[in-house]
Amino acid sequence: MAQDKLLPNGTPSYERIQVVDDQKKFTQDLTKQISTWGLGDAGFNYNLVAVFGSQSTGKSTLLNRLFGTDFDVMDETRRQQTTKGIWMCRGQNMNALVMDVEGTDGRERGEDQDFERKSALFSLASSEVLIVNLWEHQVGLYQGANMGLLKTVFEVNLGLFGKPAADGINQRTLLLFVIRDHLGTTPMENLVATLTSDMEKIWDAISKPTELRDRQLKDYFDLSFTTLSHKLLRPDVFEADVNRLRGRFTDKARDDYVFKPAYHKRIPADGVAFYMEGIWEQVQSNKDLDLPTQQELLAQFRCDEISAQALGDFNEQSKSQRKPVESGRVVEGLGKMMRDWWTTALARYDQNASRYHKGVYQRKRADLIGVMESTLSPLFLGQLKNLHKSCLVSFKREMLDGMRGESYNFAEIVNDARSRFEQLFVSGSKELLIDGVSWSYDEEYSLFREEVQSVADQCRKDETKKMVNVIERSFKRSIFEPVEIALTKPTPDMWDKVLTAFRRILSKSEAAYLAKAESFNCTDDENMHSLATLRRRAWQALCAKIDEQTADAAIIGKLRAHFEERFRYDEAGIPRVWRPDDDIDGAFKFAKDNTLALIPIYSKIKPMDTSLEYSLPSEPSDLNGETEEFDFESTLTIFSETKALDISTRFRRDADAYYVEAKRSTVSGIAQ
Ligand code: GDP
Ligand code: MG
Repeated sequence: MAQDKLLPNGTPSYERIQVVDDQKKFTQDLTKQISTWGLGDAGFNYNLVAVFGSQSTGKSTLLNRLFGTDFDVMDETRRQQTTKGIWMCRGQNMNALVMDVEGTDGRERGEDQDFERKSALFSLASSEVLIVNLWEHQVGLYQGANMGLLKTVFEVNLGLFGKPAADGINQRTLLLFVIRDHLGTTPMENLVATLTSDMEKIWDAISKPTELRDRQLKDYFDLSFTTLSHKLLRPDVFEADVNRLRGRFTDKARDDYVFKPAYHKRIPADGVAFYMEGIWEQVQSNKDLDLPTQQELLAQFRCDEISAQALGDFNEQSKSQRKPVESGRVVEGLGKMMRDWWTTALARYDQNASRYHKGVYQRKRADLIGVMESTLSPLFLGQLKNLHKSCLVSFKREMLDGMRGESYNFAEIVNDARSRFEQLFVSGSKELLIDGVSWSYDEEYSLFREEVQSVADQCRKDETKKMVNVIERSFKRSIFEPVEIALTKPTPDMWDKVLTAFRRILSKSEAAYLAKAESFNCTDDENMHSLATLRRRAWQALCAKIDEQTADAAIIGKLRAHFEERFRYDEAGIPRVWRPDDDIDGAFKFAKDNTLALIPIYSKIKPMDTSLEYSLPSEPSDLNGETEEFDFESTLTIFSETKALDISTRFRRDADAYYVEAKRSTVSGIAQ
């Protein structure tokens, strides 16, 4: 790149750039160059000026003097050729972009009119002020002053600016006529009048689209005029004139300040390159130029770029929390982080993109929000899931801890823990919400509540089981004695006694259960199950006790005792001493029959009072879904018939032994 050159006033000029080269190619370095000039962030705070006029009319010389630029100037002495193309440079001490057009020398023209037309159009479409440069003696000369070209440019320009922009305001451009080598012989007013009427004539002569038929020159252009003295003949005056003119570009306070806001094309500085390239392409392809569309295209491009920049950091930030969330952690302050990323990205976008076409800016903003939302959504959902898990685990732990001690109120523990963790879940979820994003945690919350409920239910079921076990043990302790007493002293209403005791103790147990179950908030269903279990276990405990009391040795013992009591003791309970005339046979038979009659009573649980008959209702499946096979009917039978026969045989044998012994005792009595 060229070294900064020193200008006549001693300050280095900015480096210029060839925007369009001699192959009519648009540069890719303009954005970078604008940044290098320090205007990248200027927004709307910059101006654009271009020049129009025949070859070698001192255009480049004028621009360099006015703006401190360094455009090539034809050196007459060496006939040095300037480099064809469109050039741009930043003006010194002002935020102005200055464009110079280099065509080829007039003698070689013809083939090059195309480039001149295109570059003129391009200049007009992008600049606020177009300097129309001409010699004084060219005024009034149609061909010599390039007026033919101006006609074409006006025509095409109407296509460009004809359509009002989105805001309905025509874009205006200032045509600043600079009359060179002014000798002063023709008064300024005359020159102005001639040029103005020339312009009007040209305007009237151009063909206009029907819908723009009535448009006037002044609808699109302001005309302004100035003269410069002869540079070679009166160099001092020329310098003074140039300085005076320069003031019109720099001094905003002046009435004739040229960069009026109405002329600004409203392209932010960071979009100028893209915009100009688009215009150049349209000019090149000879398509109808439609500036509002160009501005929209520009806005789309730039808003996308700005959005992508904002998203870059945003994505990095959100990525940083993806792993922790995926690993199942509840990330502290995730919501605040997400809100920070969100507002930072949006603020960045707004700051740079809001200068562009409103509709596009807003549309792309909605897109950006959509992308950010879907980027953060997995974090939101993941954190919710983790929150759900961790709250549930803590809830379980708190329940178990609470139930560790001896005395605790189960219902209180459940309610306290539930409300605490539900609150924790809700506040953790709320922390994640972002203004303007319609996220909801309702579904996860109701799922969480369901699971909390099922954990609580499980705990309650376990508790209920424990309680049933405790009640069962106390039932057993209570039932043993009455059973033992009833079975040891058998009577025909033996079972009535057993069953009465059973019922009394069972109903006490049931009452104990219900009293406790109430504080647990057990459901009716659960109570039904628990009570059924309790009844079955009570019955089984009873049967077990009866089985113990009627086991072989025990039953034989009981029968023998019953028999002995009747055979070896008299009615008064005094032991008998048999005498030969005693009716041993009769007594023996009585005692034996009386005892044998007990066997059928023992063999089946059958109360005399049928209202005491007990039956177990068919049991619903157990709380855990397991049903124990339990055949109630069979538990009523204590001995089978064979068993009863076997017992009676064994008893008879014992009884016979007593009989023989009794007989013997009388014999031995006689012998004495
Ligand atoms: P451009 O082709 O329009 O850019 O013209 P240049 O700026 O390259 O100048 C062409 C020639 O005109 C150079 O030799 C300049 O020295 C000369 N020139 C520049 N300004 C003036 C002026 O105001 N009056 C006269 N007579 N010649 C000038
Ligand atoms: Mg030049």
